[in-house]
Amino acid sequence: MAGEIKELYLDDSATVKPVNSIKFVLQNYLEDEWYNPSSKYSKGQFVRNKIEEVRQSVADFINVNKDEIYFTSGAAESNNWAIQGFVKQCEKDGYSPIIITDYLEHSSLLKAVEAEKKNFAKVSMVGINQYGSIDKADLIDLLDAYTYNPKGKFKILVSIMTANNEIGTVQDIVELCEITHRYANAIFHTDATQFLHYDKFDNKICNVDLLSASAQKIGGLKGTGFFYIKSGIEIQPLIYGEQEHQYRGGTENTLGIIAMGEAIKQNRYFYSNSIKECRYYLIKKLIESFYCKINGDLAKRLPSNVNVTFGYNITGEALIYLLDMDGIYISAGSACNSNSNKPSHVLKAIGLTDEDASRTIRISLPDDITINKIDYFIDKLKNAIEVLVT
Ligand code: PMP
Repeated sequence: MAGEIKELYLDDSATVKPVNSIKFVLQNYLEDEWYNPSSKYSKGQFVRNKIEEVRQSVADFINVNKDEIYFTSGAAESNNWAIQGFVKQCEKDGYSPIIITDYLEHSSLLKAVEAEKKNFAKVSMVGINQYGSIDKADLIDLLDAYTYNPKGKFKILVSIMTANNEIGTVQDIVELCEITHRYANAIFHTDATQFLHYDKFDNKICNVDLLSASAQKIGGLKGTGFFYIKSGIEIQPLIYGEQEHQYRGGTENTLGIIAMGEAIKQNRYFYSNSIKECRYYLIKKLIESFYCKINGDLAKRLPSNVNVTFGYNITGEALIYLLDMDGIYISAGSACNSNSNKPSHVLKAIGLTDEDASRTIRISLPDDITINKIDYFIDKLKNAIEVLVT
């Protein structure tokens, strides 16, 4: 059985295969209904209605109101919007902006924060433990310190991702958000990009103020995503223009948005349990077969994620190339950081040395993963490691 496998995609955190029905749904919007959704004649309004239908599906997906959803080019833009929009709003209202975040965040968020720090925002990094969980006591200490020793008028944005893209650790967003809301001047943003494919994010329960997401991680297309802004939260636009109630300029990415609607319709939470079973099996096989350790929290973790550091003198990069020759696709760190030769900032943040970080791979399991496929992967991995250590 295992011998029949020709290709094995184990990099779902980089991107999820688009759901099959997208190509049928989009055909109509490529051939017939390709009009501008802002055009007032009936053809344009037909496309507008479809976009508004998707906005409703996105809102239902995270249990919020339709008019709180804005379409963007993806989570990187939404993260930038959260940070830059918050700082610009503070400037406009005469408040000093304070950002509390952590070193596990996606580079699109960390770089936006870094840029604002160079301007005039105050930035504090909240502590994390060795499994990548946020230190809640530290968050409270930071919020206390800013609140009870104020230096003029200020507002605080706490930004903590729901689930990490490299080590898979899932944060306790309900409690982190509740802690943040104990402070009158603080709002909470989460980058939920990696989480939404696996479990319900119900904002009636979580109560976040801002949320970033990307369609490509839930079976939609790359270059599309959304940003949630809770009604009553004031935040300046990132891209000025007329669309999205003058909050996000640029003609809507109609095809991407419609594809995202289709992906949400087909979203496959119900695969989570079978993926999780395969994930436990993979971890067991890795530990039995190799000298290695698993990074991240074993219990509070994305069902698809395994992040493993080997105790041999090999590199994750070399493993990627060898496994690629067998048609197996994995990654070392995240796809977004793969162009930089620096060790992963996430692995460094949970305490790995540069050497251990370089000996690490990320395996993220797709919906159609099976025990057979994992056995096949382990066989090929054994061969690859043997080649590298001899
Ligand atoms: N946040 C997280 C956690 C991600 O994993 C990614 C994609 N790797 C992004 C943000 C950015 O998403 P996109 O490139 O689709 O904008």
